[in-house]
Amino acid sequence: MNNRRSGNGRREVACHSCAHWRPHIFYPILGLCSVRGVLTFEDDWCEHYKPLSYGEDRFYWCVTCRMRLTAVEAREHASRGHKVYLSGYIDPDVREEIYDAF
Ligand SMILES: [Zn+2]
Repeated sequence: MNNRRSGNGRREVACHSCAHWRPHIFYPILGLCSVRGVLTFEDDWCEHYKPLSYGEDRFYWCVTCRMRLTAVEAREHASRGHKVYLSGYIDPDVREEIYDAF
């Protein structure tokens, strides 16, 4: 299997930088792969990997601030080193509890 890890460093090509990954709202080292429909760790990787970009005019999710962002805000947060994704993943079991936050 093609493993793109370089040296001992953190793998750049991994779930945490993939457009298909939805980090868990409360435990962002875990996330939902929207292609395979499974939970993965942020440094996992699979052949469906697609680099995340903030070009699309839509809402994004900042894990660092735990808030929803526009595309303009998403680029701004990402440039400050925040972890920004297309959306967050809420465990179906806790959805009701935090429904008001959305
Ligand atoms: Zn942020």
